[in-house]
Amino acid sequence: MTQLPDLEQLLADPVVAALSRSEETAWFRDRPTPTIDGIKASGIDPAITEDARARFRRFAPWFAERFPDTRHTHGILESPLVGVPDLQTELGNRYGKALPGKLWIKRDDLLPVSGSIKARGGIHEVLQVAERIALEAGLMEPTDDARVLMTPEVQELLSAHGIAVGSTGNLGLSIGIVASELGFNTTVHMSMDARAWKKELLRSRGVTVVEHAGNFSDAVAAGRRTAQEDPSVWFVDDESSLSLFAGYSVAGERLAGQLASLEVTVDAQHPLFVYLPCGVGGGPGGVAFGLKQTFGDAVHCIFVEPVSSPCMSLGVRTSLHDAISVADIGLDGLTAADGLAVGRPSRLVGEHLQQLIDGYVTITDERMKACVGLLHTLEGIDVEPSAAAGVPGPWQVLANKTYLSTFGFDDAALASATHIIWSTGGSMVPAEEMAGYVAEGQRLAGEVIWG
Ligand SMILES: *Cc1c(COP(=O)(O)O)cnc(C)c1O
Repeated sequence: MTQLPDLEQLLADPVVAALSRSEETAWFRDRPTPTIDGIKASGIDPAITEDARARFRRFAPWFAERFPDTRHTHGILESPLVGVPDLQTELGNRYGKALPGKLWIKRDDLLPVSGSIKARGGIHEVLQVAERIALEAGLMEPTDDARVLMTPEVQELLSAHGIAVGSTGNLGLSIGIVASELGFNTTVHMSMDARAWKKELLRSRGVTVVEHAGNFSDAVAAGRRTAQEDPSVWFVDDESSLSLFAGYSVAGERLAGQLASLEVTVDAQHPLFVYLPCGVGGGPGGVAFGLKQTFGDAVHCIFVEPVSSPCMSLGVRTSLHDAISVADIGLDGLTAADGLAVGRPSRLVGEHLQQLIDGYVTITDERMKACVGLLHTLEGIDVEPSAAAGVPGPWQVLANKTYLSTFGFDDAALASATHIIWSTGGSMVPAEEMAGYVAEGQRLAGEVIWG
């Protein structure tokens, strides 16, 4: 067991103290680390990104055939990037400070197949496992079109293998949908508090859903145990998987293409700020890794977490990473934000990627929900609460004069800046449930205090 430092000592840091009081916080790196050094320090080989990208290309024909919502991109899973000028103006009014530059939203809530950012990482790992099994059996060549997996020989082989995962929802959804479609025996371990519609949807696709009385970590631990007992079962480990991470990182190059097509320049004089909702950290970490490879020092990645479960902010701030849990500073971890209620961060991301992360922001559930309401009212965009966590981020950056001056963001740079809110989920949420989020959000938009 790792010995935790004295709590009193930890709380001497005003940021940790504020985290322990469930206050909204924002803190940023003291000085820039050149991207090349940050990537080296991560110890993660950038080649995993290109490898994942090629895998998604090989599987595109399979997706186009099997998932109707990928037909219009010929099987490539990608989401739109859209400007949100009315939200930018309205929040500028509410904060009493207009945001220079332009505000955009990256709509991973619309990603095909499973409607969340998990369609990048979760799906990638399943594809990689399927390929490995077929390759090892000599039933596939490394460059084959993945539709070869649908032949009866490979189907028989895959059905003798299992995929298991522990999840509160979106990861289970992404993995369950694709793994069952590929013919795997698929088990998703969920905590009792996971949404009923997610369990029903998975069961309707032939996935075994096991419910655990405890919390999310208990469900993950149970899943890991059953997979350890049976070598034919592959366990997708959200807390440390490099394959998940690789799948997320493909987003970097894709975003560069979208920005270029919209005539958006990104360089030292035109900085790019990206606001990423963070749970265990694999999603935002992988996306940040891809963005840094693509945009280098011109991109700035800010992670956003709920005030009740700021595991990444706490882990990095105290340098304890996964050796400290939000419960250790008295937080209950309860939040309406699906996917973000995580007590301990991924060590892969917190410890190894910290030099590539610019800032850490926390947000109350009320403000997150209010942002859901504003997005609906002003832009006609419906997302789940976790997906709206990044909305206030640009104003946190604007307010931090030390960060702005250390990194050299003067007025001219800010006027040419691009801010992207990464929206991470929502399109699979049933209509009645979404209507509830929107109604509550619209009410809260008038109640929470801005600025
Ligand atoms: C999983 C998830 C995230 C965060 O991803 P992590 O890898 O857990 O950090 C953000 N938003 C939504 C909607 C998610 O499902």
